[in-house]
Formats: sequence, C-alpha cells, structure tokens
Amino acid sequence: MKRDDILKDLGINPAELQEGSIAVHSPIDGALLGKVKADDAASVDAKIAQATKAFQEWRQVPAPRRGELVRLLGEELRAHKEALGALVTLECGKIVQEGLGEVQEMIDICDFAVGLSRQLYGLTIASERPGHRMMETWHPIGPVGIISAFNFPVAVWAWNAALALVCGDSLLWKPSEKTLLSALAAHRLLEAALARFGDAPKGLSSLIVGNRKVGAALLDDPRVPVISATGSTAMGRVVGPRVAARFGRSILELGGNNAIIVTPSADLEMARRAILFGAVGTCGQRCTSTRRIFVHSSVYDRLVPSLKTAYERVRIGNPLDPDTLVGPLIDGRAFEAMEQALQQARDHGARIHGGGRVSVAGAEGGYYVKPAIVEMTDAADNVREETFAPILYVFRYDDFEDALHRNNDVPQGLSSAIFTTDMREAERFVAVNGSDCGIANVNIGTSGAEIGGAFGGEKETGGGRESGSDSWKAYMRRQTSTINYSRALPLAQGIKFDTE
Ligand code: NAD
Repeated sequence: MKRDDILKDLGINPAELQEGSIAVHSPIDGALLGKVKADDAASVDAKIAQATKAFQEWRQVPAPRRGELVRLLGEELRAHKEALGALVTLECGKIVQEGLGEVQEMIDICDFAVGLSRQLYGLTIASERPGHRMMETWHPIGPVGIISAFNFPVAVWAWNAALALVCGDSLLWKPSEKTLLSALAAHRLLEAALARFGDAPKGLSSLIVGNRKVGAALLDDPRVPVISATGSTAMGRVVGPRVAARFGRSILELGGNNAIIVTPSADLEMARRAILFGAVGTCGQRCTSTRRIFVHSSVYDRLVPSLKTAYERVRIGNPLDPDTLVGPLIDGRAFEAMEQALQQARDHGARIHGGGRVSVAGAEGGYYVKPAIVEMTDAADNVREETFAPILYVFRYDDFEDALHRNNDVPQGLSSAIFTTDMREAERFVAVNGSDCGIANVNIGTSGAEIGGAFGGEKETGGGRESGSDSWKAYMRRQTSTINYSRALPLAQGIKFDTE
C-alpha cells in the first residue's frame, strides 16, 4: 500500500499533513511523511477542560455500555488492521509482521477490556460490628494522561485507552513526536467508533500533539489525576517527581536491560531462536529486547557459534519487504548511541561480531545496522545501561547463583528469562529470591508479552503495570464504605465515646 492509500483507509486526508509545524520522517529512507499541527498551551488547556467535563458524564454511563464503545473500537481496528500496521511500519520502521502484530495487540486489549467492563469487581468485607457491612467499590477517577514512546506508537496507547475507557475515564494522549501519523490514525479509528456509539460526551478523548514541553503541561495539572507515561528512564525521572509533587498518580513504564540465562540443561535450539528474536527483532528497539545473556561454560561453545551463524543469515533491509527480518533504527541519534556503546565495549577488550551501518538500495537515508554480538571478557563487569539498538552482550558463567545475581545486578527490572529443563533452576528463577524483574519467563524469551498478564517492571523501569490482570485498578479510585443497618452506633475497636 502507498502512503496516501494507507492514510485514506485510516480516515486521514493527506492534504491535512502539509502545513503543520512538526515534520515526521520515515526511518525507512528519511522521506518526509507529513507535517502535523502542534498544540500550544491554550489548546492543551482547552482539551484538559473538555476531558474534565466529558469525564463527569462518562463516569455515569454504566460500565458494560462503556465496554460497547471499546468493542466498536476493536471492530474498527479489525477492519483497518492492514493499513494501521503498514503505517506503523512506515513511521517507526518495524517489519510488516511486527506492525500487524502491534495492531493485533490493540485488538486483543479491546477484547479483554470489553469483558472487563462487566468485571470491575469490588469486595464485601466482614465488619467487626453487629448490623454493619463493609464494602469496597471502584469508581472512575478522572481524565487519564497517556504519554507514549515511538517504539510502540499505537499499542501502548490502546493498553491504556481500552482500560481507562471501560473504567469510566476520559483520555488525553500525548504520543511520541516521532510517530504522530500512527497516533492520528489510531485516534481517528476511536473517533469512528465514537460516531457509531452515538451518545458519548464530546471531548472524551483528545490527542495532544507536541514535544516534551507540550507533554509537560499534563504533568502539573491537578485536573489530570493519572499520568501513564511510557518511555526512557530519563523521561520517568522528570515525570514521576512532578506528578508526585501534586499527589497525582503515575504509571511509569520505562527502560529495560533484559537478560536470559542459558543453563547446562537448556534446549539450545529453543534458546537460540528466543535470543535471536529477542535481541534482533524490532532492531533491538523493544523495552523487552534481550540485551544480555549469561551462558553456562558447558554450552557456550555450542550456543554462541550457532547464534553468530543466525546473525549472519538475518535479512536486513526495507521493512516493507516481506523477507526482511531487521528494519532500520529510528534515526541517526540511535545509530550514534549504538556506535558509542560498541566502542566502549571494544575499549574494555570485548570481542564484537557485527555492528556498523548497512547500505540498503533505495533506502540510503535510513539508518540500517548489522546487529552486534559482543562477547565480554571473563572479568567484564555487567552492562548497566540500556542502548536502544540491537546489541547483545554475552557473558560466560559457571555458577548459577552468580548468573542469577548478575541478572539482577542492573538498575532496571523489566523482563528476564531462563532456559533450563532443571525444575530446581526454573522454580528458583521465579521464586522470591530469584529474578527481581516484573517479567520472569521460563523457556521463552524476554520479549513478546501477551496482553492477559500485567505488564511492567521494577526499579528504574518505574514500577507501573499496564494491560491485563488487575492493572485496571490503577485507572480507578477505591472507596471503602461501612453501612450500618442496625439501630445502634458501636464504635470500631470497642471504643466508648458519649456524654450520656
Ligand atoms: P522518550 O523518553 O524519549 O519519549 C517517550 C515519550 O515521553 C515521548 O512522547 C516524549 O515526548 C515524552 N517525554 C519525554 N520527556 C518528557 C518530559 N520531560 N515531560 C513530558 N513528556 C516527555 O522515549 P522513546 O525514545 O520514545 O522510547 C524509547 C524508550 O521507551 C526506551 O527506553 C524503552 O525501553 C522505553 N519503553 C518502555 C516500555 C515499557 O513498557 N516499559 C515500552 C516501550 C518503550
């Protein structure tokens, strides 16, 4: 599909993208995709006011009816999956399969949220007082601010939006300035669903277009009780304290530094495939990308050469070509960061296979790279920083406890995995003194989570949880009520307090 056909399929007239102040370029070849009009302080203020007003109405719509809106959004996404997937590929450089996978993830979370709309359960709690009942109810909380990153330009929004909408909240979405067309398109699909829904309040969802300064307006505004922010740890360091300063709630989904331990009993073919997808897929630009592996000495000389062979065979190229497995990095800055990280490793005596820029015919403006395997020397320290590029640091280990320690010995705590057929090692990895990450997998890799589980990580990953399980609770406020249906007024803890 061509750009204009894709845009039209998604309800965007290409002429709309000629005069905005923010230029969006394709990482495929650097071509200009469009110019989008940015918000200013006044328009952001008006959108927040509108979302506040819409919330007052939306919260009173019964939750299963709110679910109907999300069901319609799921239908729109199904009908436009191919076009939205292709736009994600054009704008963030994912291969076609992964662009489509991203939209499928949006559809999946819509299905989940529709079911959830009839399951926003509270509790009934036994009261210590006779003739009393206690209950806990979940109420809508208010407008939810969503700040999203370039690498999942639409799925992360859907994780938040589908849940927040059934929870009775309105939405304010500040997408990455690098992927504005995908955001515009996804929002148009929500608008189409809203039109079919009929009686939703005006301004229930707004897009806020701009750079981080524009996004920052959401952080300080007490009308926005929840900020869900996905991006780098550097961003979270700003967002977290600012939202906390006004006692707002933040859901932070930040950087990862994910490792896999490959033990002596591992199925090495499975491990090889999982590491390849985790480290090389999406050109190493997933928060859950595999960045470090700890390989037991007894299997090192079988696994690592087979990985190198697989790396040689990986097809790098235009992500629109169905044979391509690795598309471009997002931009020149990402390429420089990769070069710098490789130079640092070289300075520390590491052996590097791959790396460097690759020229792709017809797409010379894109930053294509050879994914790199970096064999660390025995004495090498852990790698503590996330470089958002396909670099896999390989360490050898002899002692399981040491590998586990090194898995955890980084500031981030998002995803982790172990390949083993030894039940003791597997259980130990997911036990209380095992991996300290939000995600700890056995015999599958670090990337490619399903929406049914809660998604997120600890430490500098920010501690937030999104998507499945009971993540919805972060989008609601909890109320505890004690109902007295007796004719007496006993005080809790047996306290006597009266003048009679
Ligand atoms: P980024 O931090 O540069 O930007 C993310 C978003 O935050 C953008 O919309 C940006 O405009 C906004 N932003 C940045 N600074 C801000 C500020 N001070 N105030 C308000 N808004 C601000 O990240 P990126 O380069 O787009 O994405 C890559 C990063 O995102 C990686 O670190 C990756 O690990 C992380 N990520 C994490 C998850 C997760 O779920 N944990 C998912 C996807 C990406």
